Amino acid sequence: MKRNLLLTPGPTHIPPQLCEALGRPIIHHRTPQFQDNIKKVVEGLKEVFQTKNDIYILTSSGTGGMEAAVVNLLSPGDKAIAVDGGKFGERWVELCQMYKANTVVYKVEWGKAPTAAGIKSLLEAQPDTKAVFITLAETSTGVTPDVKAIGEVVAQYKAVLVVDAVSGLAVEEIKTDEWHCDVVVSGSHKGLMLAPGLAFVSASPKAIEVIKNGKTPCYYFDLRECKKAMEKVDTPFTPAIGIMNALVDSLEMIKKDGLSNMFARYKHLARAVRAGCKAIGLELFPDPSCATNVLTAVKVPANIDGEKLTKIMRDTYGITFAGGQDHLKGKVIRIAHMGALDEYDVLTGLACLEKVLHQMGHQFELGTALAAAQKSLNAK
Ligand SMILES: *Cc1c(COP(=O)(O)O)cnc(C)c1O
Repeated sequence: MKRNLLLTPGPTHIPPQLCEALGRPIIHHRTPQFQDNIKKVVEGLKEVFQTKNDIYILTSSGTGGMEAAVVNLLSPGDKAIAVDGGKFGERWVELCQMYKANTVVYKVEWGKAPTAAGIKSLLEAQPDTKAVFITLAETSTGVTPDVKAIGEVVAQYKAVLVVDAVSGLAVEEIKTDEWHCDVVVSGSHKGLMLAPGLAFVSASPKAIEVIKNGKTPCYYFDLRECKKAMEKVDTPFTPAIGIMNALVDSLEMIKKDGLSNMFARYKHLARAVRAGCKAIGLELFPDPSCATNVLTAVKVPANIDGEKLTKIMRDTYGITFAGGQDHLKGKVIRIAHMGALDEYDVLTGLACLEKVLHQMGHQFELGTALAAAQKSLNAK
């Protein structure tokens, strides 16, 4: 049997103890036993989100959580600012436009980060803006902005700050309350190391006020209904029960590990992967000053087809990297270092990358990337 190592930014590698947890028999969701799990999950998520705000649990992929945020916050004609510096920022723009918001697009070159000053000047020009949409870790480019600085700016206006932390949560720090992040969206299948199927949306008192007065019709993703249910330790509909139950275990693992230790570990892995790539001539795609620790996006050499490279790695050796999206297709590879991945997982990925790149004709001494990564891992 071939290995199946996911070094991808979602879905991510699921550790064996969580695979077991996902395989446990389903219990009924209208029971005290399940209520006990809801309580544990909400409590654990609040620690990971670093918030005292409400957290609503939706059964959907991460994008469902994003749609819920847009539908509940924006009424037709409302002004919104959406940062578009990659595929996921573009998704905010598409969602805002789909629901007829008057959307100002803050375009950012792929690989660069939006700035607090940029957002301030847009808010200055449109002070009645209802919401500002940003991305904690722009998975398509490997960029993380200064969310804290952006939060300080947005807090001075009427607008709420909405953060897509689907890939970032539990990998790249977000202090929801301290940084004034009114709505934070995440999912089960990235930093939380589980199967896809659950989305989470936190809402500050400022956001709850906006949600109360929302006029866009919606049924399944109505956060007012989620709030009512949550107050009774319930969910409006049948949730992904199996994932909820396993989430109790995942959140316990995270608590035991400690968030700050996890952030430090991903930084350590990111540094090693970058050292390895650099040693064989692969240049980092994003501006290093705003590169996220969630994943490493590097440019493939001009004479190498990145699509073919990742296909061989996956189909022949069972190691999956993500490729580039849109205009970066074939030109970039994205190596995740998040969730349950450890030093030997990223070393395995780099070893395979070296092997296949070398076979495809990229010139370097085999072992160079591994040596550089090992040195980085052993350095303080
Ligand atoms: C994965 C991801 C999402 C959500 O994707 P789904 O496929 O809907 O789960 C949203 N934003 C970012 C930044 C992501 O990485």
